[in-house]
Amino acid sequence: MSSRWTLVEELISRFTDLPPEAIIKEDLLRTGVGFSEDALRVSAGYKPKAYFIFSFDLVPIAKMEKGENLRAPEEICLRDGRLGFRRTIVSVRLNPESPYRVHISGEGRLILELDSREVCEVEFQKTPEYYERTLSNGKPITDIAPTIEWGYLLYLTVFRICQYFGKNEECQFCDINENYRQQKRSGRSYTTVKTVEEVLEALDIIGETDSDAGAYTVTGGSITSVLDRKREVDFYAQYPEAIEKRFPGRWIGKVVVQALKRDEVQRFKDAGAKIYHPNYEVWDPRLFAVLCPGKARYIGRDRWISRILDAAEVFGPAFVIPNFVAGIEMARPHGFESVEQALDSTTEGLDYFMSHGVIPRFTTWCPEPMSELGRNNPQGAPLEYHAGLLRRWRDTHSKYRLAPPPGYGPAGIGRAVFSVSSFMDVL
Ligand code: SF4
Repeated sequence: MSSRWTLVEELISRFTDLPPEAIIKEDLLRTGVGFSEDALRVSAGYKPKAYFIFSFDLVPIAKMEKGENLRAPEEICLRDGRLGFRRTIVSVRLNPESPYRVHISGEGRLILELDSREVCEVEFQKTPEYYERTLSNGKPITDIAPTIEWGYLLYLTVFRICQYFGKNEECQFCDINENYRQQKRSGRSYTTVKTVEEVLEALDIIGETDSDAGAYTVTGGSITSVLDRKREVDFYAQYPEAIEKRFPGRWIGKVVVQALKRDEVQRFKDAGAKIYHPNYEVWDPRLFAVLCPGKARYIGRDRWISRILDAAEVFGPAFVIPNFVAGIEMARPHGFESVEQALDSTTEGLDYFMSHGVIPRFTTWCPEPMSELGRNNPQGAPLEYHAGLLRRWRDTHSKYRLAPPPGYGPAGIGRAVFSVSSFMDVL
């Protein structure tokens, strides 16, 4: 039996209070997945990976010999198999060298394998009708308004680069700028700054045929000076303002920007956005300074945290949902040495925010090789950490008797659609 099988089975039997689907999902997210040629041939007829913000891959496009970047699906749905998996949606992070592979069985079933042994069945999402459409300027809708989370979330990365530039400013786990460059090199339509008109036209098209989307996210890189002569708040607020004017209340509006001043946060609320995501990325003060040097210098950790609590007074605590990147606190050379230390630190942050009614959510760290941290930590964080975090997150959430975070669709194993970590699967 292979070591990965042994590890996964050992963790499934140690964490009996977690769904086994969530353990496999976390392992897929931290390790990535490969596709056989046959599986890629099938997936080409389904909803493709749109590269909605970062690369979220374990290899750069230049190393994808089968052209996976153009052929792989956005997400896979796991079900059945020998463990009787309930429907579980997982974002596809490509890694041709992964021990996980999507393949076609001898009987023609689409399956997930781990070390060549079948784990469960796999489904791909049907391509939505609007994915076939283009805007009047010829841009594909997948550039302007792709959807993730099995069609639940319209993802509007309206500015595809970040003004934190280079090693001394970019968040060390982030490949937004490198990914932008590789997508441009690959010839993909990848609009740097989307106009409000483009976004509205795309939403018009989607609105004609779609009933699956329940929310939209407006996001992009940080703006430290100005963009189109607008400050960060003025640039990003124009999108929810226009969307809510044209489609009042049709979707739950979310904005992912930096931790801004209270009056600036109020602008988003007044624009009609319902949820604010000022992502703090990592809790430990020393690691925040090292891993988010730009944010530390321009805003600072203490101010970032106090602004999160200010925002809770503007939006209501349940509607302020800061993200952290789960696992980066174990990255070498600066991270914690042990899983327990890392979990204790992150749980301190969870407890702090949840005691104020603010529910952080997390994205499972994908050690992208084009980021500083991914390059030096290709293995990511241990699976044991990710399983432990799910337990700590769920238990802290339960300790403060909080409701499932809004804007993520249904909660619970078999129902959740959030695809870049399993926190909604364990509620
Ligand atoms: S602020 Fe950090 S995480 Fe966000 S886009 Fe810029 S470099 Fe990436």
